[in-house]
Amino acid sequence: MNVNDGRPDLAELDCAALEAVLVDRGYERFRAKQIFAWIYRHGVLDAASMSDLPATLRTLLATDFRLSTPSVTSRERSSDGTEKFLLGLSDGLHIESVFIPDTPAMTLCVSTQVGCAMACAFCLTGKMGLVRNLTAAEIVGQVRVLTHELQLQSSPFNIVLMGMGEPLHNYDETMKALRIMASEHGMALPMRRVTLSTVGVLPALERLAREPLMPNLAISLHAPTDAQRGQLVPINKKYGIEDIIEVCKRFPLKRRARITFEYVLLAGVNDAQEDARKLARLLSGVKAKINIIPLNAAAGIPFERPSDGTIDRFARILSERGALVSVRKSRGRDIRAACGQLIVEGRRQSPAQRLAVAAFGG
Ligand code: SAH
Repeated sequence: MNVNDGRPDLAELDCAALEAVLVDRGYERFRAKQIFAWIYRHGVLDAASMSDLPATLRTLLATDFRLSTPSVTSRERSSDGTEKFLLGLSDGLHIESVFIPDTPAMTLCVSTQVGCAMACAFCLTGKMGLVRNLTAAEIVGQVRVLTHELQLQSSPFNIVLMGMGEPLHNYDETMKALRIMASEHGMALPMRRVTLSTVGVLPALERLAREPLMPNLAISLHAPTDAQRGQLVPINKKYGIEDIIEVCKRFPLKRRARITFEYVLLAGVNDAQEDARKLARLLSGVKAKINIIPLNAAAGIPFERPSDGTIDRFARILSERGALVSVRKSRGRDIRAACGQLIVEGRRQSPAQRLAVAAFGG
């Protein structure tokens, strides 16, 4: 089922495209909606199970099309209930997706690329470099597989695009995936349940601001000045903080909505009291909430997590200045499923990656 044999992939078609294909072959338009419901609402993995379709159409789907679905290579469960899925793609590459229960919602953390080109200094995925973009089918496929494995089809869940990869560096496929998931005939996922996290690829961020389909936005900021951020997030040298904040100020937000600013706290690097004061000043004119993420340390990552006292003090300075602050509780660290810990052992491993794999016995 996972081999790309050249047949069109049903998982790559949004509902309008599927309608066009079916009408082209002499079938009624509404069949597309039925097929969408089977794939995305009922989670079926093959056309034979789509029992309300005419037999001829079922045969056509089974012979002339394929329905690609990532395969579950492994599944690990953390002591806190978080589960990490290693998923196999049709070309043999792997990605990771994470299920985080009770946050209080059920949350699926989904990847948008194999590896990542952003090379943030504290992120293990960044050490892999970019291997390739995921297709929309592979992005939605993670959700199809996880909801199936976890039997979540009929319960509400949130999606965070915070797995491997930079979603705005794979803009078209990411947005297509959101369109497929939002389709009322399929998953009907409301965009208020989706959060897109980005380092702030500026042209793509401006494009996002004009989209009809609008997920919640999270910006990986991590430092209050360009000098500091440039050391941690290399793309900041191209798209600096001022420009990102400017776009954020103009970003169309629903009433009461806020942009999340993620701030990975690194001991001795960006955790000074002065940094907190600068951060509060920087975000004072933005409808923001700040999410502090104490570093998830790993072998090969040359930073340390600050003490609990430092984390509390940093958060307190921000809230005393009127900012909305939360400190992210790290989940799944014992199975390397926490933020920045997603990495897949490739053929060409960097020294840091080899180290990380050795240290964790992966
Ligand atoms: N590329 C996107 C989405 C993936 S990362 C982005 O950068 O936003 C999701 C979040 O995890 C980001 O805020 C990222 O900076 C953070 N992160 C990466 N490595 C981390 C680590 N070692 N510890 C804690 N958070 C980390």
